[in-house]
Amino acid sequence: MRHVRKSDLPQKVCQTCGRPFTWRKKWEKVWEEVKYCSDRCRGSRNAGSKTENAPLKGR
Ligand SMILES: [Zn+2]
Repeated sequence: MRHVRKSDLPQKVCQTCGRPFTWRKKWEKVWEEVKYCSDRCRGSRNAGSKTENAPLKGR
């Protein structure tokens, strides 16, 4: 069996949800700029601190 060391991948902590996330291929060129684990978190960066349950707007 192959042993993949996930720990070799860099990690960061999401600025929105505070969860750690691991390097992804799609971020290979922008990793230093990545601050959020997902587009959803990135989109809610300006939501403030009291709008956790704010519905996502369509479109
Ligand atoms: Zn997040």
